Amino acid sequence: MTTLRVIIWFAVAAVAMLLAVWLAERPGTVTAEWQGWRLDSSVGVLLVAVVVLIGVCIGGWLLYRWIIGAPFALLEGWGESRKKRGYRALTQGLAAVAAGDGIEAQKHARKAEQLLAEPPITLLLSAQAAQLAGDRDGASRAFTAMLEDEHTAFLGLRGLIGQALREGDPSKALAYAERAFKLKPQTPWVVHSLFDMQAQVGQWKAAQETLETGQRRKVVTADKGRTLKALLLVERSRAAERANEQTGNVADALVLAREAFALAPERIAVTQRFAGLQIKAGDARRAQKTLERGWALAPHPDLAMLYLEASGESDPLKRIGVIRRLVSHNENDIESQLALAQASLDAGLWGEARRHLEVAGGNSPPVRACRLMAEVEERSGAEQAKVHDWLARAADAPADRAWRCTACSAQHETWRSVCESCGAFGTLQWRAPGTFGHVLPPETRAELEFANNEKK
Ligand SMILES: [Zn+2]
Repeated sequence: MTTLRVIIWFAVAAVAMLLAVWLAERPGTVTAEWQGWRLDSSVGVLLVAVVVLIGVCIGGWLLYRWIIGAPFALLEGWGESRKKRGYRALTQGLAAVAAGDGIEAQKHARKAEQLLAEPPITLLLSAQAAQLAGDRDGASRAFTAMLEDEHTAFLGLRGLIGQALREGDPSKALAYAERAFKLKPQTPWVVHSLFDMQAQVGQWKAAQETLETGQRRKVVTADKGRTLKALLLVERSRAAERANEQTGNVADALVLAREAFALAPERIAVTQRFAGLQIKAGDARRAQKTLERGWALAPHPDLAMLYLEASGESDPLKRIGVIRRLVSHNENDIESQLALAQASLDAGLWGEARRHLEVAGGNSPPVRACRLMAEVEERSGAEQAKVHDWLARAADAPADRAWRCTACSAQHETWRSVCESCGAFGTLQWRAPGTFGHVLPPETRAELEFANNEKK
C-alpha cells in the first residue's frame, strides 16, 4: 500500500515539476481590466493564486464543519460516555454481588439505574444487591418491578418466591409459585418448588396435578412420580377418613389407599395405610395378605403390629406362630429376627428371644438388639451386671434403622409425608444412617435449606 502511495506521490510531483518547467519556458502575461482597474501578471503567479484560493476555500469549509458539528459531536460523546459509565457501574455491581458485598453492590446498582435507562438489566442487579445487603423491602420492590416486563417477570417471581420462603410465608410463596408455573410449567425448579409448597400446606390434590404435569413434561421421572403419587394418595386417604369420621365410613379412604398400594407397595407408609383400613373395614384376611406383600418388600415393626392385630390372636405363644408366618416372606431381614425376638420375649421364651437377637445382631448388634437383649436379661431374672452390660453396649452400638430424611438426613419418630426439618415431600425412609441419593434437585434444596436456616 505504502509503496503504491509513494509512487503516486512521485508521479504527481514529477507532473507538477514538468508543468512548472513547461510554464517557465513559455513566459506570458495575463491582463485583467475591470471598472478602470488594471491587473498585469504572469501566468505562473496567476496559477499559484488560483491554487491558494482553492486551498483557502477548503480550509474555510472544514472550519465551518468543525464549528457547526461540534455541539452534536459533544452531545454524542457525552451520551456514549454516560452509557459506558452505566455499564461500568453494572459490571462493578455484578462483581460486588459475586463477591458477596451487598453495600458496594447497591451503590453501583443505583448508579447503573441512573445512567442506563434499561430497567430489565439494572433491576436484577438492584434486587440481588438489596438481598445481599439484607434490604428486604428494596429487594421486594425490585423483584416486583421485574414483573412488569415479560422478559424479567419469571426471574422476578423466582426472587419473590425465595423471599417469601425466607420470611416464612408459605402461602405467599405458593401464590408466586403458581404464577411462575403458569408462565413456565416445563422448568424443573418451578415444578419441584410448587409441588413441595402445595404438599407443605396440605393441598394434596393440587400437588398431584402439579406432579402429573411434571411427569407429562418429563420434569419428574416416571419412577419418582409413581412413588410420590402413592404417598399423596396416602395423604388423600387420610383426609377422606377424617372427612367421614362421624359416620366411620372408610370406603372412600380405602379406594385411595388401594390405588396407592398398587403404585408403591414398597413404601411402608402405603402398606400400613392400606392394611390398617382393610382391618377397619372388617377385612382382616385381605389385610394380612397386604401386610405379607409389604413385609416381603420393606419390613417394619408397625407392619408386624398390624399383622398381629389382623390375626386377632391374643395368646402370646400363638402370636409367635403368627409372626413366624409373616416373617417367612422375608426371613433374612433384621426386622424379621427382631420381630420374632419381640414375640418370644412377650411370650416369656427367653432362650428363643436370645437366639433371635443373636442372629439379628451378628457381630455388632445395633441399638435395638442391645436394648431388647437387656430387657430379656432383666425379665428373665439374670444378674443386674448382665443387664448393665447390654445397656452399655447399646450406648456404643451402631445406629438403628429409623425414619430418616433422604434430603436433609433429619431423624423422625414417626413417618410423615413432609419432612419437618427441610420441608421436602416423600423423603422419609426407614433406613440406617448412611449416604442416600438426594431426591430433590440441588437448587430447590439449597433454597429450602437457606429458607430454613434464615428462620432459625
Ligand atoms: Zn428433610
